[in-house]
Amino acid sequence: MENKPKPTGTKEWTSINANIARGCEHNCRYCYAKHMALRFKRIKTADDWLNMELKHDCVPKHYSNKNGTIMFPTTHDITPSILDKSIVFLDKILKPGNKVLIVSKPHLECIASLCGKLKDYKEQILFRFTIGSYSNNVLKFWEPGAPNFQERYTSLMLAYSKGYKTSVSCEPLLDIHAVKLFNLLKPYATDSIWLGALNKHKQRVNKDGWGTVEYKFLKKAMKAKHPDSVRYYYKILKDEPLIRWKDSFKKILEIESLTEIGMDV
Ligand code: SF4
Repeated sequence: MENKPKPTGTKEWTSINANIARGCEHNCRYCYAKHMALRFKRIKTADDWLNMELKHDCVPKHYSNKNGTIMFPTTHDITPSILDKSIVFLDKILKPGNKVLIVSKPHLECIASLCGKLKDYKEQILFRFTIGSYSNNVLKFWEPGAPNFQERYTSLMLAYSKGYKTSVSCEPLLDIHAVKLFNLLKPYATDSIWLGALNKHKQRVNKDGWGTVEYKFLKKAMKAKHPDSVRYYYKILKDEPLIRWKDSFKKILEIESLTEIGMDV
């Protein structure tokens, strides 16, 4: 029998990705897209990643109804500088009836605008906000250009209060406070809260010039994905209807991995 590779990363959620820009102002230290851009020489230095540029053909003339949920974006974020074009793009892909998973480290200004402008498509949209810690120190270290915890939390509350379907990705989980984080987020998530590990930091995180402080943050993230920590989260959260485990944690917990791309469970 053929041994199919198990879906990991964004493939656990959706099979179709959409992006309108290159680079990302959030400049996360663990960014997979930045790592790939450097590896394939699409950018010369890591700092080039900060220069977010719209693709010239970012809004297609026609967009068809796809078979499956579209995840937008996957290799950048929706920041105020590309908000207008993001709304035009989303309108284009929602119009033919597509379902869209909007993934973001959310700026309140952007979420307020999306909620207002896309209200006719509410039933087709699921928001997924990335929140890997409630500590602003931790978030600032790993995701220096992204909004702080309060702004992400308020964005989640806003989307929820406007009647949108909401979910949270606590991946990468950046410290061990997963249970408290889950309980903070739970009242405003209607769909799911995902826990998952910081993956492949040896390849993806540039540690040039690091000292004690930087390694302390790495140690927190390593502790967050230690098998004992993951088993503890599982013990406390396993019966929560909203909890979902990313593949990195499923392996530790010996939960069966997904068999198909985009199952989002
Ligand atoms: S928000 Fe996403 S795309 Fe942007 S730098 Fe962070 S990980 Fe990369």
